[in-house]
Amino acid sequence: MIYDAVIIGAGPAGACAGYWLAAAGLKIALADRRKFPREKLCGGLLTCKTVDMLRTILPVEDIPKYGISGTYVFHHGRSAAAFKLLSEAYTVRRSQFDTLLVEAAEKRGVHSYLGEPLQSIDFIKREVCLSGGHRLGYSILIGADGALSRVRRFSGIPKNEMGFCVESHVPWELLKNPDHLRNGGIEIYYGDFSDGYGWIFPCEASVAVGVGNLAQGMTEQEILAQYQKFLADILISTDIKPAGAYLPSGTSVALGTPLYENLCLIGDAAGLIDPFTGEGIYYALLSAKTVTDAIVSGKTAYPEYERRMSRIIQEIQDTVGIRNRVYSPPVLKHSLDFMQSAAQYSEKLIDETIVRYAKTYADAYEELKFYSR
Ligand SMILES: Cc1cc2nc3c(=O)[nH]c(=O)nc-3n(C[C@H](O)[C@H](O)[C@H](O)COP(=O)(O)OP(=O)(O)OC[C@H]3O[C@@H](n4cnc5c(N)ncnc54)[C@H](O)[C@@H]3O)c2cc1C
Repeated sequence: MIYDAVIIGAGPAGACAGYWLAAAGLKIALADRRKFPREKLCGGLLTCKTVDMLRTILPVEDIPKYGISGTYVFHHGRSAAAFKLLSEAYTVRRSQFDTLLVEAAEKRGVHSYLGEPLQSIDFIKREVCLSGGHRLGYSILIGADGALSRVRRFSGIPKNEMGFCVESHVPWELLKNPDHLRNGGIEIYYGDFSDGYGWIFPCEASVAVGVGNLAQGMTEQEILAQYQKFLADILISTDIKPAGAYLPSGTSVALGTPLYENLCLIGDAAGLIDPFTGEGIYYALLSAKTVTDAIVSGKTAYPEYERRMSRIIQEIQDTVGIRNRVYSPPVLKHSLDFMQSAAQYSEKLIDETIVRYAKTYADAYEELKFYSR
């Protein structure tokens, strides 16, 4: 079979790219090594900017979700700040959410090949081979196969720098203090986790409890030890099974090489993660939209994709520098104290940056420095 585009990976990046490209009239194949529904380690937090993009694919009412209305921030275990969320945000279970997106893509006409890992790519013949024996020819190949992308590896693009997260979904009954979470709050824990944070995100039937280190520098064992200590602080029993996963740290975003001008990486495979928060679903969708717009623009797809992605990548890389400064202990404490003392201003700033991305982190950082002097 020959397709206009073959997409490897049917997470949010691949499924949304498939949907939008098929909606533009292109013949699309979407392949994933797993059958859906499948689990994906993730807090499942969707901010308003992501929800806005999702509306072009399916009614948001159709997504099983939990409404989030506030953020409670802790520093070395003590309550440090609390902010209302000014725009909509939700948590979702990724197994359900990702399945809905794949189904929406299929309904739009995408041919899916699920449960078949990518086996090889012939970049000269422009053909991928899946483990089930399917051979798919393409004009454009889209690598959307996550943080440890094989498409990226096969094409010789250096691998992303990775952070590492440990997370599990735990029953509500195990929480020592569920009050904020029951009222739609998420909890973020700073101070004990260098270059990262701990989180509790409520969902309908359970809560996601995790710690993540968004830079290299700690071993997986050290992060797991931090996680066990975190669990002991917040749960009445720590008898749960955690899982670990890599995510890009945002520091080595790369798109491809001139050798393969018909290869586009998106989502985690491209290294697109918010270096402050670890939020990646937004960038999965944003890059899926960007690659779609580049392909349907009628211009040569790869240079157009590279041009459109370069602004996003620049913003992510600027944010890495800011993150490294803000996560340094004295700056973090000072920023949290200031943000709590000016809660209304901070709520607006969080809304403009993290929730809606109407303002870049670089601009927000300059503003915060100016006002908190
Ligand atoms: C612990 C943790 C918590 C997180 N919490 C949040 C959060 O709350 N909010 C948020 O926005 N982001 C969060 N993220 C980040 C988010 O999960 C990712 O950024 C997002 O899933 C990226 O989407 P994607 O489609 O690029 O990749 P993925 O969702 O990873 O999908 C990639 C797909 O490719 C498939 N695949 C992989 N290899 C192959 C292969 N060889 N052949 C075929 N298919 C293959 C996989 O099966 C998978 O379905 C979190 C990440 C972690 C690790």
